[in-house]
Amino acid sequence: MNIYKAENELNKTKPIIDVQGLVKNYNTHQAVKGISFQVKRGSLFAFLGTNGAGKSTTIEILCTLLEKTSGTIKINGISLGTRKNNELIRKSIGIVFQQSLLDEKLSVKENILHRGRLYGFTKQELIENWHFVKQALHLEEIEHQQYETLSGGQKRRVDIARAIIHKPDILFLDEPTTGLDPQTRLFVWDTIKQLQKELNMTIFLTTHYMEEAAVADEIVIMKEGKIIAAGTPHSLKEHHASDQLSITFLEETIGRHLLLEKGLSFTMKNGIFTINVPSTLEALQLLKEWEPSIHAFEVIKGSMDDVFIRLNKEEIGDEQLIEFSHSAQ
Ligand code: ADP
Repeated sequence: MNIYKAENELNKTKPIIDVQGLVKNYNTHQAVKGISFQVKRGSLFAFLGTNGAGKSTTIEILCTLLEKTSGTIKINGISLGTRKNNELIRKSIGIVFQQSLLDEKLSVKENILHRGRLYGFTKQELIENWHFVKQALHLEEIEHQQYETLSGGQKRRVDIARAIIHKPDILFLDEPTTGLDPQTRLFVWDTIKQLQKELNMTIFLTTHYMEEAAVADEIVIMKEGKIIAAGTPHSLKEHHASDQLSITFLEETIGRHLLLEKGLSFTMKNGIFTINVPSTLEALQLLKEWEPSIHAFEVIKGSMDDVFIRLNKEEIGDEQLIEFSHSAQ
C-alpha cells in the first residue's frame, strides 16, 4: 500500500469530527463550558438540549461561522482556526440552517445552479452535480417550480440539495424538521437517512424531536453549556429511562400480594397493575417468577422522551457528568 493510500485508509477510521475542551464566551457569559466529543465518519449524530443549552453556538463554531474562545476542533483531520484551514473545512461541509438561503423568485434548478457556481465548478461539473442532487433529493417534478410556491417539505429538500451540491463529507442540519407537519417530517427524515446510507455522508443534526434522535447512531445531550450524557439511543435508554410493566393477574388479590411482597410501588386501574422497572431484563425476571399467576402482560420500553425529561430534571454538577459510550468521549 502506498503512503497516500495508507493515510486515506487511516482517515476513514479516525473520527470525522473531534472536539476537545471547547469553550465559548459571549462577553462574561460562558455559553459552552469546555465540551469534548467525537463523531464517527458516516454516522448519524444527534445533538440535543433545551433552548439555551449551547447547541447552535457549538454548531456555528464547527461550521466556522463563529470563533471559539478556546479548545481544539478537528474536522476531517484539519484543525479549525486558521483562515486557510477554515476554507478547507468549509469545502467539506454542507449546512442547512432553519432559515433558507434561497431566492424565493428563482426556480429550484436556477437556485441550485446559482449556488453551485459559487464553488467555482466547470460547466460540466456543475451539470453533473445538479443531476446528482436532483436524483438524491427527488427534485425531478419540481425543478422548474419557483421556490416560493413549494410546500414546506419540498422547500426543505431543496435546501438540503443546495447544501450538498459540492458533495460534502458532513452535512450539518439545525432542526431540519421543525415546523413541518408529521407526514412531511417523516419524508424529510427518510431523505436524511438515505443520504447517510447511500452516500455515506456524516449527518450532524440538532433536533427537538426525541423520536428522531432515537434513530441516530450516537446522541450527545447538552444542558447549560455542558454535555450531560452521551451514547447510543439504546445505552441512554438503558441508563436513564425505566420500562413500564403492566400486568393483569389471574386474581387481583394475588397480584397485590406479590407486588407488596417485593416492596414494589405500583399503580392499579381496571385490574391492571403498572410498575416501573429499571430494565427489560428485570421485567423478564419478574414475569418468569410470577408466570403461574399472570393472565396478561405488556412491557413498554422507556423512550428517548423519558431520557430527555429525566436528564433535564436532574441537577447536574461537574461530578455528575456522565458519558456512557467510549466512542462518544
Ligand atoms: P441553543 O442552540 O441550545 O438553544 P445557543 O447556543 O443559542 O443555545 O445559546 C447558548 C447560550 O448563549 C444562551 O444562554 C444564549 O442566550 C447565549 N447566546 C447565544 N448567542 C449569543 C450572543 N450572540 N450573545 C450573547 N449571548 C448569546
